[in-house]
Amino acid sequence: MCGVFGCTGFPNAVDITLNLGLCVQHRGQETAGVAVFNPMQPQGMRLKKHCRIGPIGHLREKLQSADMPGTIAIGHNRYGTTGGSGLANAHPIVRKIKGSHVAIVHNGDLVKIEFEDKMLSIDDVHQKLDEIGIPFETGSDTEIILHLLARERGDDIVSKVLAVLNRLHGAFSLLILWDGYLIAARDPWGIRPLWLGKDDSGYVLASEDNPLKQLGFKPIREVQPGEVIFFDQAQNITTFKLKNQPPKLAHCAFEYVYFARPDSIIFGQSVSEVRKRFGRKLVQELADKGQVPKIDIVIPVLDSGAHAGLSFAMSSGIPLDFGLLRNHYSGRNFITPGQDERRRQVRIKHSVDETCVKGKRVGVVDDSIVRATTAQCFVDMLTKAGASEVHVLIPSPRITHSCFYGLDTKKREALAASSSTTEEIRCRIGANSLHYLSLDGFKECLGRPENFCLACFSGIYPIQVT
Ligand code: AMP
Repeated sequence: MCGVFGCTGFPNAVDITLNLGLCVQHRGQETAGVAVFNPMQPQGMRLKKHCRIGPIGHLREKLQSADMPGTIAIGHNRYGTTGGSGLANAHPIVRKIKGSHVAIVHNGDLVKIEFEDKMLSIDDVHQKLDEIGIPFETGSDTEIILHLLARERGDDIVSKVLAVLNRLHGAFSLLILWDGYLIAARDPWGIRPLWLGKDDSGYVLASEDNPLKQLGFKPIREVQPGEVIFFDQAQNITTFKLKNQPPKLAHCAFEYVYFARPDSIIFGQSVSEVRKRFGRKLVQELADKGQVPKIDIVIPVLDSGAHAGLSFAMSSGIPLDFGLLRNHYSGRNFITPGQDERRRQVRIKHSVDETCVKGKRVGVVDDSIVRATTAQCFVDMLTKAGASEVHVLIPSPRITHSCFYGLDTKKREALAASSSTTEEIRCRIGANSLHYLSLDGFKECLGRPENFCLACFSGIYPIQVT
């Protein structure tokens, strides 16, 4: 998962893009970058980019339109899933194609590509390109798209882009900046979100709609699955539909669990509403089985457990309290390499308010359990702070399978539920009880489950990995 954002038609394109980036910072903090197109410069010097390690705030403090003038810009917040986490893998990735620079930002992971009439895995395409002497500067799947664009014959940007995007299989919500065109595209499965908005001057795009609203733009609609939109410098829009028509949509259900902001609307539904349904459904399932734990307070793990925690409290009638607080400056701990360091990060990220929990039976609502590092830490912290019992309530199903479409969980063995029963995980995290929402209950909350990718919970993959 990453954040992509950009705009066209604004004299201060870089400022708008960096502000959009700050509003989608939650989607990635490893690197941040922006590329700007300035039509006033001579050919070959019109595109400038700037990337940094860390959150986009660093870039925003340093750069203003005076430093990077231009009317079209794209930007990226990276949460690394393919390639290392260094600056070399930061987006935008820029390459020179026939005298002009092309920049791309990408959210999602590609899984295979039609290459010379064969369907090949990403590694195989890498190897093929390597063999014919194409120099790779990153370890990412995204760079392949630029090399494929460079290999396309002809001069027409529109047909080259469509020809290449038609051959990609996997998750891509992406923006391309090429010779005065801004191009927005979403894979035909609709795996990752992408929004289009506008004001009187021009168009804006971002992974989620809330950033558009926050900055005073009018959200128009989600870019449709399989849609490619070309914006020229005069703000004319041309849209195309990719040829590849999958048998079904496959929106990432984990966007609702964790990734997206609660105040966003993605895949046609409010994220906070769906999260509240998860919490209510968990209460209903526990009540049906006569298993609602006897607890004095419900504690949400902030921020992604907040809405399900609230609805759990409201529908169970058990009071909610903020027994766990969150350090908003600590970043994301799950991308930290190594279990010891990850544990240390979780302890910095969450702290216990002893006065809320001392002597109480607490029920903690976190959005999900991936490796179980977080749950193990907060159970220990709450117990040490004097909670008499700690019950863990997870308003999503057991994560048993790897994701290959943009969630960084390719190593299945690292997932707690891939090889352990719920009782084994309960013992490992030291909780008095552990309850998950069932997959059926989760599907019911999604509304139209047939439109979602549930592979991390079910092992049923919408796009087979070769
Ligand atoms: P864990 O400690 O691995 O069980 O993860 C706990 C929290 O981090 C939950 O909020 C998860 O949704 C989130 N999380 C863990 N791993 C990932 C990942 N690879 N990508 C996104 N979110 C994650």
